[in-house]
Amino acid sequence: MLLEEIIKEIAICRACDIWEHYKINVPPEGNWTARLMFVGRDPGREEIEQGRPFVGQAGRKLDALLKSLGIDRKAVFISNLVKCRPLNNIAPPFARAKFCADRFLKREIEVVSPKVIVCLGAEAARYLTGQVGVMSRIRGSVYKYGEIPVIPTWHPSYLVRLEKMDPEAYADRAWEMYYDVEKALNMADEE
Ligand code: SF4
Repeated sequence: MLLEEIIKEIAICRACDIWEHYKINVPPEGNWTARLMFVGRDPGREEIEQGRPFVGQAGRKLDALLKSLGIDRKAVFISNLVKCRPLNNIAPPFARAKFCADRFLKREIEVVSPKVIVCLGAEAARYLTGQVGVMSRIRGSVYKYGEIPVIPTWHPSYLVRLEKMDPEAYADRAWEMYYDVEKALNMADEE
């Protein structure tokens, strides 16, 4: 399967009505042979403006975390369950997110074949691990998507919101996310 084909298909996909809201599809990006893959829920406002995933506040938070672990963003692969932005950033029903992920994310994972996947937030964790639960319970644990280890952690957009509302809780969650990604990185290096 040509990787470019997936990107081209994403760009012209109109298969569901999520596209109707903002009329732009945001493809994944990064290293197609990455050992580590990150999966979020859907693109935000800045992502649809730039047509790239994780380039807004949450993306900058993720970039800073990667940098603190000595990882170049270009070395990893970054994607979302859903390639179009839901209206007003309201999470689409899981079946709708799954519809998009089955069309694209599933094939991206087959092509990239990462050593470890990090789920950013509950929706990605539900799709890739089947776990439906609060992130505080499942984060940092190792699940499997096929043969690929999957580690759920906080979505960086949650950390962005928490930093303003509750700096103390933010410090705890930020450390947890650091720990989870470091764990994923170490596992990817071992595989
Ligand atoms: S959300 Fe996914 S399935 Fe729906 S139009 Fe966008 S790319 Fe296609």
